[in-house]
Amino acid sequence: MLDLAIVGATAVTPSGMRRADVGVRAGKIARVADAGALGETASRTIDAAGMLLLPGAVDPHTHLDAEMFGSRTADDFESGTTAAACGGVTSIIDYAFQPERGSLADAAAKWNEKAERRATIDYGFHVAILDPTPEAIAQIPRLAERGITSFKIFMMRGFEARVRDFMRAFRAAGEAGALLAIHAEDEHLIGYCTERLLSEGHRSVEYFAASRPPLSEESAVKRALAMTAVAEAPAYFVHLSSAGAIDAIRRARAEGRVVLAETRPIYLYLTEDRFRDPRGERYVGYPPLRPQTDVDSVWAALADGTIDVVATDHCCWMLEQKLAADRFTRIMPGMSNLETLVPMLYSEGVAKGRISLERMVDLVAANPAKIFGLYPHKGAIIDGADADLVVFDPNRRTTIRSIEMHSRSDYDPFEGFEITGWPRETIARGEVIVADRKHSAQPGRGRFLARDRFSPRWRES
Ligand SMILES: [Zn+2]
Repeated sequence: MLDLAIVGATAVTPSGMRRADVGVRAGKIARVADAGALGETASRTIDAAGMLLLPGAVDPHTHLDAEMFGSRTADDFESGTTAAACGGVTSIIDYAFQPERGSLADAAAKWNEKAERRATIDYGFHVAILDPTPEAIAQIPRLAERGITSFKIFMMRGFEARVRDFMRAFRAAGEAGALLAIHAEDEHLIGYCTERLLSEGHRSVEYFAASRPPLSEESAVKRALAMTAVAEAPAYFVHLSSAGAIDAIRRARAEGRVVLAETRPIYLYLTEDRFRDPRGERYVGYPPLRPQTDVDSVWAALADGTIDVVATDHCCWMLEQKLAADRFTRIMPGMSNLETLVPMLYSEGVAKGRISLERMVDLVAANPAKIFGLYPHKGAIIDGADADLVVFDPNRRTTIRSIEMHSRSDYDPFEGFEITGWPRETIARGEVIVADRKHSAQPGRGRFLARDRFSPRWRES
C-alpha cells in the first residue's frame, strides 16, 4: 500500500520526459512506473492528467532572517520557506554570515536557531566567511564534516586588503572538498565609479548601474579565476549578470577548469531601465540590472550550458526600507523571488521556446542538487529519492500580484507580469504542503540537510 500516488502526469525524469505514475511511501519515491502500471493501491491519489510532474526545486541562494546595514529582511524562515513552497521550491540553502569577531561555527549555530522551528521545507547552510582568521580557516574542515560543504566570499568591503588571507581560506575549502561560492564584483572599480558619481552630485538610484558597471563583474571574475586556480579550489560564481563575465567562465571551462556559474531571475527579466522608473530603488541588488545585450547573453548562457543554476538570491525588504536611502550607495540590496522562480522561468523560458523543459529542471533542481551535495535525494524523480514533487499546471494564466504572494515583502519585482504556468500541488517528503495556492505546512517540519562534499565530476552523478 502506497501513501500517495500521482497519476496521469508527464514527468520530467533524468532519463527524459515520459508519461509516468509515481508512488510515494514513507516520504520517498517508492516507484516511478509507466502510466497505469503502478500496480499498487494508495491511501490518496492525485489525478494529474494534463499536468507536468517536476522534481521540487532546490534554491541554493537565499537570505532569510538576515541583517544588513542594521536592518532585518522582511522574510524569516517561516514566511520565506512558505513562499518557496507555494512556488514549487522544496529545498533551500541559506547563507549563514560569520558574525563580527565570531567563528564560522557560531554562524552555523545562529542560523540553525533561526531555521529549526520555522522552516516549512528542508534547508541547508553555506557559511559566508567575512573575517578569514587562522581560527576561522581551521574550522572549514570541521563544518564540512557536519554537512556544511560550501562557503562564500564577497570580493567587496575589505576583500582587497586581505586577499592572501582569503586565498588561504580558498585552499582550505578546496582541501576539505568544499565548494567556494564567490560574489564577484571589483571593489576598487566600484569605489572609483561611486566616488566620481557622488562628487558630481549624482545620488539618485538612476546612477546605481553606472556605479557598478559590467566591467567590474568581468574583472572580478577573471581575478577570482586566477586566485582559485593558484589556491586549487573549485569556484562557483553566484548571480552572474554580464556578457564579459560569462565569456570568462566559458573560456575557463574550455581550458578544463572546474568552474560553476549561477544567475538570478532579475538578470533574465529586467533591464537597467527600471532604475529610471518611479521608485526604481525596488530593483536594486548587487550587481545591478544590466542593458538588454547582457540580458540576452545570460539567456544564451542558460541555453548553451555555461550557466548551471538559476537561484533566487531571495533577500527581501519592505518598500519603506528600500526607499529610505538618501543615496544609491545606501539602498538595501535584494528583493523577493522565491515564489516566482519556477513559474517565471517556465513562462519566460520554456513557454517562449528559449530553453527546454528538461533544461529548466536541470537549472532549478538537478544541477543545484548535484553541485551542492544533495543528489539523488533531492533534484530528481527517481526511485528512492525524497518525494519532493511539483504538480505543475502548464496552462494556468497568472498575473503576478504582490498581494497574492506569501513573502512578507509588500512589493514584487515582477508585479503585473502575465505568465503562463503555475504549481498546482507542492509535495515535500511525501506531504502535500500546497494545493491550489493554499499552504498547509507546519512551521518546523523542514529538516536540516547535511550535504555531501563537492564532487568535481558532479555532472556525471
Ligand atoms: Zn546573495
